[in-house]
Amino acid sequence: MSKEDKQAVAGLIADGLGGEPYYGIVVIEDGVIERMIKTGTSQHDLETMAIDIELAQAELESAQAELESAHAELESALADLQSAVSDKGGALHITRAEKAIIAPGFVDLHVHGGGGADVMDADKEQLAVMIGHHLRHGSTSIVATTMTAPKADIEKALATVETFRCTSPLGGAIIGVHLEGPFISPVYPGAQNPSHIAAAHADWIEDWNARHPGLLRILTLAPETEGAEKTIRTAVSHGIVAACGHSNATYDMMQSAIGWGVTHSVHCCNGMRPFHHREPGVVGAILLHAELSTELIMDGHHLHPASSDLVRRVKGNRVCVVTDAMRASGMPDGEYTLGDLDVNVREGIARLKEDGSLAGSTLTMQSALAELIRQHGLALHEALPHATSIPAGIIGAADKGRIEAGAAADLLLLDPAAYTVQEVMLGGSWIGVEGS
Ligand SMILES: [Zn+2]
Repeated sequence: MSKEDKQAVAGLIADGLGGEPYYGIVVIEDGVIERMIKTGTSQHDLETMAIDIELAQAELESAQAELESAHAELESALADLQSAVSDKGGALHITRAEKAIIAPGFVDLHVHGGGGADVMDADKEQLAVMIGHHLRHGSTSIVATTMTAPKADIEKALATVETFRCTSPLGGAIIGVHLEGPFISPVYPGAQNPSHIAAAHADWIEDWNARHPGLLRILTLAPETEGAEKTIRTAVSHGIVAACGHSNATYDMMQSAIGWGVTHSVHCCNGMRPFHHREPGVVGAILLHAELSTELIMDGHHLHPASSDLVRRVKGNRVCVVTDAMRASGMPDGEYTLGDLDVNVREGIARLKEDGSLAGSTLTMQSALAELIRQHGLALHEALPHATSIPAGIIGAADKGRIEAGAAADLLLLDPAAYTVQEVMLGGSWIGVEGS
């Protein structure tokens, strides 16, 4: 492509910021959204209208006329754009989103593995498998998540992610690392191996951040762990989000932790001291304090639908969905490992062999979004921010998870009824999604 070339993705756009979908054009230059051209606001979709037998004939006809005029306006705006670009000696590469909604790529803050691979494998080829799997299911911004493991194993994983990020064509999909442990509570280890739990070491965070500047984005720890205050303050001073998780903290302890700089909490309700009316615990602190954002594992197993609905209603735009996926995501049922623990996967549910604890999920962000829409009865544009702009905002990635001027050209074409991902654009390039 020459310097003057641009790309245009035209159709019905859901911006990821919660706005109602509109017809328009995403104009892209050098992997970045240069500007948006809004051409119409028709909410109607011919495919869905045609099957809605309740819709009165007159209403159907007027909706059809509205839709046709929105399409005509879109085509004329495309023609104008094409001549403006060619006047400057460039070419316009057009993608029309037909029978699809244009949405920003998903942002997954918590993902251990997928496609049979895991971040802790510390292997570049395995990482490519995992990233490829989640990318094909729409996650264009992935925070690769480590486990509670020996220090040397975590360091190997960090080095591998860093190399992959800088050298692989898919490296742009990794926007950092989420350290889940090893500074967690032995009372709530979940599927983290308790024998690798360590007291909180601020010096490890200093060292890892110095070796890999900008790589660490989230540190999940239990704030009641010895050394936590200094470690939290150190993380925050380097721009790393301090998150509470796998924690037995009391409500009072959580208030202190917020004072030290904790602003996020992982997989709400899972692996933490629950709410009790005389000891509101970690869950009570998350629900009450706007300073704390949180995550939901929307797989229909980690949370009762009423629990996830309660958290979303109370937390509003401070809650995101995550996959917390382990290596069996996208794989058949069978026997797997998570860290160095054995896991059985039956009907897509991963459990530790030893005690039956849930051991991560087999989700993709595409299925987490569909579950959120289905369970909570939301429209696509209402649910979408929880998978895009909200998680991006939690880690301060202001150019991700949104369709607006200046944002990264990470786009999806989504099926408007099944919410499945048809096409994925990463940094201005369409990647193949076949075989997903
Ligand atoms: Zn966890």
